[in-house]
Amino acid sequence: MADACPNCDQELLEEHAFCPSCGQAVIVEDSVRSFLSHFLSDYFAFDSKIGRSMRPLVLKPGFLTNEFAIGRRVRYIPPLRMFIFLSLFFFVVLGFTSGSGAVMDPDRLQEQVFWDRFFGSVLPKMVFLFMPCLAGIIHLFYHRKGPFLIAFVASMHFHAFVFLVFGVYGIISKLFQLGGAIAVNQWLISALCAYTLFYLWRSLQVIFKEPPWMNTVKFLGAVVVYLMLLVAASVLTVYLLS
Ligand SMILES: [Zn+2]
Repeated sequence: MADACPNCDQELLEEHAFCPSCGQAVIVEDSVRSFLSHFLSDYFAFDSKIGRSMRPLVLKPGFLTNEFAIGRRVRYIPPLRMFIFLSLFFFVVLGFTSGSGAVMDPDRLQEQVFWDRFFGSVLPKMVFLFMPCLAGIIHLFYHRKGPFLIAFVASMHFHAFVFLVFGVYGIISKLFQLGGAIAVNQWLISALCAYTLFYLWRSLQVIFKEPPWMNTVKFLGAVVVYLMLLVAASVLTVYLLS
């Protein structure tokens, strides 16, 4: 074993498996076989991080933000990376599923061009404003219960959740639409919207631990302010685009 880290020259002790300064593994692989096995274990560690992060992101509102708040961070995908990755996923799905490809009359075509522009270039930019806005709104209502960073992480996790479930919905609804079962989509989207509201309420409860009635009042306040902001931004964009 080396006495000093080959990467940064930090002195190493017998019990160190990783350099305490730069994090490089103390045993540097010297064969293709160990090189490949390290690569694969890194790869699958990332894979297990995805599994460990996505399930609670969908099924356990507030859990990931709470884990972040108490300092358990490395075992999950970092919130900002998750937010950016899932927003890309959502807009890729949106790109593939929007537009019917059928021949349309000029009025419909103009409308289509408008919505393509709205979803393709305006919405993705607006979302990067909405995320910090919701963080600000949450902090406004819950600032006695934690620092702004926690409200910020809560907002990133909430939006990541929205992108994931509505992205998956986009794929599923396209399949139903192609199969001619549009009624199923109406049910699905209603159920999803209801779950999304519940999800935010439950997240705030889990993260900030207010009494349920107080949490409900604050949640309603936050939702009203956030929806007003969404509507105002959408109206403004539609006005600017047309
Ligand atoms: Zn080192």
